[in-house]
Amino acid sequence: MKQLTTKVCLLGDFSVGKTSLVRRFVESRFDDSYLSTIGVRVSRKALQLPLAEPTTLTMLIWDMAGSEPFTSITRTYYQGASGALLVCDLTRSETLLSLNNYIHEFRSINLDVPLIIIANKSDLESQRVLTDELLHSTAQTHRTSWFLGSAKTGEGVELAFQALGNIICNQRSST
Ligand code: GDP
Ligand code: MG
Repeated sequence: MKQLTTKVCLLGDFSVGKTSLVRRFVESRFDDSYLSTIGVRVSRKALQLPLAEPTTLTMLIWDMAGSEPFTSITRTYYQGASGALLVCDLTRSETLLSLNNYIHEFRSINLDVPLIIIANKSDLESQRVLTDELLHSTAQTHRTSWFLGSAKTGEGVELAFQALGNIICNQRSST
């Protein structure tokens, strides 16, 4: 069994659900009480990837406070990452637009690393404003894929992290 460790960053505006997605993925739970992240928090989770060579990928997930300006501090958060999960909120259209900036900043530090977009809060169906078409075209622009997700119900969360893990491992074994 091959063992790899990798750093990934969670990026997206304030309150899109970054911390909740990590909690769902790492601890399999959701907590409605609001606790905003200050600075950065690193969580760890091992994924079993059914690749040609079965692999355990340990993800170090860097969860950053949103809406910080792109400063030298942000830059050091990004350094050494092998990938990123970009999070937007299906109920707020501006959170998808913001992803363009995060991607631009992130790729200025880490060229050509894999990205996955997760459109969070799919459980809030009646408040949804972001369409599949918009998500699709944003993903295409940045040569990446997207998933619908909900930190609350768990929908799509495992899939999105697994997808990122798979791309990271495939990229490593091809270089
Ligand atoms: P962050 O600022 O991006 O880390 O966002 P948080 O994870 O702190 O979540 C912001 C708010 O959105 C909190 O009140 C969460 O309970 C709520 N939230 C996060 N994910 C979901 C979700 O999938 N569905 C719903 N209904 N609420 C969510
Ligand atoms: Mg947070």
